[in-house]
Amino acid sequence: MERLQGKNVLITGASSGIGQAIAVRFAAEGANVAINYRSGAEQAEATRAMAKAARSNGSGRELVVQADVSNEDQVKQMFATTIEEFGQLDILVNNAGIQKPCPSHEIESSDFDRVISVNLRGPFLCSREAIRHFLSRPGGGVILNNSSVHEIIPKPKYLSYSISKGGMENLTKSLALEYAGQGIRVNAVGPGAVVTPINKAWIDNPKARGEVESHIPMGHAANSCEIAAVFAFLASHEASYVTGQTIFACGGLTLYPEFRVAWSSGE
Ligand code: NAD
Repeated sequence: MERLQGKNVLITGASSGIGQAIAVRFAAEGANVAINYRSGAEQAEATRAMAKAARSNGSGRELVVQADVSNEDQVKQMFATTIEEFGQLDILVNNAGIQKPCPSHEIESSDFDRVISVNLRGPFLCSREAIRHFLSRPGGGVILNNSSVHEIIPKPKYLSYSISKGGMENLTKSLALEYAGQGIRVNAVGPGAVVTPINKAWIDNPKARGEVESHIPMGHAANSCEIAAVFAFLASHEASYVTGQTIFACGGLTLYPEFRVAWSSGE
């Protein structure tokens, strides 16, 4: 399937995990992909090689662009470089994100600020630059946000992360409503537990992983490709009438899993 043939896409935090899988999937679907990374150029180059290898007909371009998404000047430079290299931008994927677990009463304000800066200020800055560009030429555009089930499910000890994803829901909806009339669609994907570096605490520890997966109705964590597939659909013309939505790709985690057994009826 090449639903994104010739589309120019910028993906933040694309040197690992879900962002890397999105870059590879979008390249496989024919897109030119700008791979943003903050640090670790080698990993970004590895993503570039994987995206190149995924192309069925060999055509299409990959670009590696360094920027911290929370830094306004670096974000502006990243967009300028991408638009200069590709000619124009059609799709932005706000994927970069971090988390820092800590009991809420012990959080350092600098740690709180950093998570909000990367997870919420970053998508704001990137969306603003993308929308300015989309409005500067005909054709509209697409913005996709990598949210989380924690957009709607509280996550104790991950307060800043939870708040950032809750805010992302309103970022998605507000921008979708504001620019729907100008051909700009804004949507989000809400993954559950995915096997990526952000979950290094449990992915390689069979006991810890079993504990995590015991809470998931479908019984297992997702791999990044399963999440990238949802992004590819939302980016494509097949989702042309979808805006302001979060699609949860979470193996049933948003379905109140504790109700799998009838503990409330007494029968
Ligand atoms: P990951 O750690 O592999 O990916 C995060 C990426 O963001 C990394 O490449 C990192 O270098 C990059 N990044 C961090 N700070 C940055 C900054 N300031 N500027 C630019 N890039 C920066 O983990 P992942 O699971 O692939 O996470 C990607 C997104 O998916 C995040 O937004 C995360 O919240 C979301 N998500 C992940 C899961 C999961 O279970 N893995 C579940 C729900 C949502």
